[in-house]
This record gives sequence, structure tokens and C-alpha cells, in this order.
Amino acid sequence: MASEVELAQNASPGDDTIFGKILRGEIPCKLIYEDEQCVAFDDISPQAPVHYLVIPRKPIPQLSKASDADEQLLGHLMLVARKIAKDRGLDNGFRMVVNDGPIGAQSVYHLHLHILSGRQMHWPPG
Ligand code: AMP
Repeated sequence: MASEVELAQNASPGDDTIFGKILRGEIPCKLIYEDEQCVAFDDISPQAPVHYLVIPRKPIPQLSKASDADEQLLGHLMLVARKIAKDRGLDNGFRMVVNDGPIGAQSVYHLHLHILSGRQMHWPPG
């Protein structure tokens, strides 16, 4: 089983990703939220008792490739993440992560926010 870092080292930006397949309904996933701009679903390999992802429908490969025109969309993703956290009762907090590129250990090149909670987080991250 490849580690997260190994997955990230072997990943590269491409035309299509597993999240594109989820958005098109080609592979199943349990959506926890959707609107015209984004969807959210639980991570298939949770790193905490609560671990969900918020992704834009627009296929932005990574945060460093977003443009100024994406300003509203990026803000929307964060506010959706916050709304889901409130609905899930994450009143003691959560961690939001965006991995970018090989150094950031990004493995899926479709921009996504990770939201983790349900256990004490530590700093610095690995
Ligand atoms: P990153 O390493 O930041 O690119 O994160 C990609 C995340 O996508 C990882 O946490 C994976 O566990 C998660 N993931 C990959 N495939 C799926 C899937 N089919 N459904 C839900 N989450 C997935």
C-alpha cells in the first residue's frame, strides 16, 4: 500500500482525475453537500474521525493554478466547509488543509479543501 507521500510523488496534473469521475457520477460517492459551484463528500481514507473534502465543480488542478477570477469561488468553498462543520457539530474546531503540488503532498490534481476534526490536531504537520 503506497503512502500518501508516495502517491503524491507519483501524481501529476492531468486532464481528468478521480474527482472528475465523482462529479460526473461515474464512480459512487456519498455526497454530503452540493450546490451549483461545489460538492462535498467524505474522504475515502479518513485521517481523523471526521474528514471530508470540498471540491469546486470547476476543474482547477491546484490552488497555485487558480486565478484572480476564482476569488468568489475560493471564498465559497471555505464558507461551505464552515457550514458543513456547523451542521456536523464541530463546535470545538477543525483543521482545513489544501495540499499543493509534490512538496505539499497533493495526490489528486483537482483542487480540494480537506476538513479534519473529531480528534486533537498537532503542530507542526508531517
Ligand atoms: P491530496 O493528497 O491532498 O490530493 O488528497 C486527496 C484525497 O482524496 C486523499 O485524502 C484521498 O484519500 C482522497 N480520495 C481519493 N479517492 C477518493 C474517492 N474515490 N472518494 C473520496 N476520497 C478520495
